[in-house]
Amino acid sequence: MSENFLLTLNDSQKDAAQHIDGALLILAGAGSGKTKTITTRLAYLISIGIDPASILTLTFTNKAATEMRERAYSLLDSASINTPPLLCTFHKFGLLLLKFYISKLDRKNNFIIIDTDDKKRILKSIDKDIPTALVASEISKYKNSILSPTEAKAAAQLKLYQQIADIYEKYENYLEKNNLVDFDDLLLLPYKILCKSKALAEELSQKYQYIMVDEYQDTNELQYKLLRKLCCTHNNICVVGDDDQSIYGWRGATIKNILNFTDHFENTKVVKLEENYRSTTKILEHANQLIEHNRDRLGKKLLGTREEGSSVKVYESSDENEETRKIVDDIKKLIDSGERASDVAILFRVNALSRSLEEGFNKAGLSYKLVGGMKFYERAEIKDLIAYFRILTNNNDNFSLKRIINKPKRGIGKTTIDKLDAVSIENKKPIFELLEELEPDELAKIVGKKNSRTLKVFMASIMDLKESLEESKMRFLDSFEDTFDYRSSYDNLPDGFERQANIDEFYGYIRDYFIQNPLLSLEDFLNEIALESEHNEYSDELVSMMSIHASKGLEYKHLFIIGLEEGFFPIIGDGSDIEEERRLGYVAITRAMDNLTMSFVHSRFYKGKRTTLSKSRFLSESGLIKGCLTIEKNSAYKTGDLVKHKIFGMGRVQKAVKAGKDYKLTINFSGQRRDILSSFVEKI
Ligand code: ATP
Ligand code: MG
Repeated sequence: MSENFLLTLNDSQKDAAQHIDGALLILAGAGSGKTKTITTRLAYLISIGIDPASILTLTFTNKAATEMRERAYSLLDSASINTPPLLCTFHKFGLLLLKFYISKLDRKNNFIIIDTDDKKRILKSIDKDIPTALVASEISKYKNSILSPTEAKAAAQLKLYQQIADIYEKYENYLEKNNLVDFDDLLLLPYKILCKSKALAEELSQKYQYIMVDEYQDTNELQYKLLRKLCCTHNNICVVGDDDQSIYGWRGATIKNILNFTDHFENTKVVKLEENYRSTTKILEHANQLIEHNRDRLGKKLLGTREEGSSVKVYESSDENEETRKIVDDIKKLIDSGERASDVAILFRVNALSRSLEEGFNKAGLSYKLVGGMKFYERAEIKDLIAYFRILTNNNDNFSLKRIINKPKRGIGKTTIDKLDAVSIENKKPIFELLEELEPDELAKIVGKKNSRTLKVFMASIMDLKESLEESKMRFLDSFEDTFDYRSSYDNLPDGFERQANIDEFYGYIRDYFIQNPLLSLEDFLNEIALESEHNEYSDELVSMMSIHASKGLEYKHLFIIGLEEGFFPIIGDGSDIEEERRLGYVAITRAMDNLTMSFVHSRFYKGKRTTLSKSRFLSESGLIKGCLTIEKNSAYKTGDLVKHKIFGMGRVQKAVKAGKDYKLTINFSGQRRDILSSFVEKI
């Protein structure tokens, strides 16, 4: 049986898939079958009798993990898999380790994962002066370089960085006290645990005898070190990567991990794949032309195997609305002609560009999914519910308690919360426990009589709810609503309908989760959703929109890349790196299989104002502009254009002012000036 699925591989791929023991590096360009090779290898290892439980495969996104699992399973007889192999993102793997072993760091395993938004709010509460985004990213860098607050302080030369290191220290204390972990901790804490306990590192290494990593070019120092620990008893690591697709430099990913792989792991076998099976040769040509402008690369060859295909289209539009209209029209035509919506995707470099697309899609009644955005869970009503549920599972979570202590409104103001906070710090006790333990009179001394009564009632309700949760996970949502009337607090509010729809959807999702996973707890659910970023995948039959980062490893028959303007793509200045931007361009183009359209506009409405833009250098660098390619006719008007009117005949535009979808034109018809809307004339 094993030979059958190897038949779809070329010789080099086959060679790699059948490699069993020892280190293996597959270095190859986009679409050359790297992922296909390691999924086949996974299936191959199982087919020759290696215990699936001893194989660990790591990726970067949930979507990639799901796709790989499906690909590998489709090759195998499901009966042959008794324990499924672990195939997940680095972060999910880190979470699993923490669930089991965080006690080695003297912490409890009912920790809660915070997202970037929570992180920023905590940082803001520690320091309001230094820009939170800067502090957040510096802390992330420290963690990914395994620098403790003390080490960060010692390394800081400028005053600003000493201050940031101070904030880092306070932030770490806050997380520990409230038993919270951030995304970086999901890698850092497991690493610390494995450093602390050599025995555990060896035990895990024995457990995971075969380790595979997709997209290795995007691993950072910390991930590499973690992998090293996992390989401490063997050398069975197989990684695949492409230096041209390294797009997480800003998160500390280092191409050195690939370049030094053969030094890091003994007797590495290196396999290169040189044929691209994904894209038509025209698409591939443009990708290759673009990436050749980078100096810092290994310079691999990538040959096409498919037909020439149709030309890559470039759309030029006056603004984002026109851009969206063109794309929506094209997609409608594609779908009308029988193409599947799920074969279509739109990519952008900057997330904010999705807004105009979303609007256009909604107007046109076209369904879409936004892949990789945290949209749903970012909505206030959902974050409130999550905060409620978090305190049911973790008393220490002051952060969540403060978020919902006055939601729905019960008259507890900021002053009261600040007072509770102060007492909590003074007594080194979470607010939750204070509220629980203090007698009403004592509490009244801190927050006043009325507030004391309110808070005691609130606590009693929370305690009841905890009990109800223990009794029945399925009924506890009803008890929650009966107690707090959370949903109806949105009755008659201007956007209440939409918010209640979100709440209903969330409840439905939780119930479904418990039906599917009867043995898991509310806490498991909370941690799962904190990690999940692809919750929008309710249906597969939708057009996908996503950032280029989120599109890594994926492929689509029909692809649109929007926002090809200087400043939007490439992003310029502010620490941006033009070579990394170009690699993003290469990643984006190489997602396309059959048809590719790249689009740029003359102006965009962004951050509250309309900005004039010039087209991206990537269009010319990839050979798309100047030369053989068709540029869509510009429907914008400008001074000097020749137009024809049904009654007034030919005229020349003297002035063009944008008016909604149209232009208000001042036209000179043989000496007579008239103001006419552009929809009444034809451009010649
Ligand atoms: P990326 O760098 O974008 O992650 P990749 O190298 O992982 O790409 P895959 O996604 O594994 O490439 O494969 C790209 C496409 O080529 C897939 O549709 C895959 O099925 C197809 N493919 C890979 N190898 C072969 C082959 N030997 N014969 C036919 N098709 C192949
Ligand atoms: Mg891949």
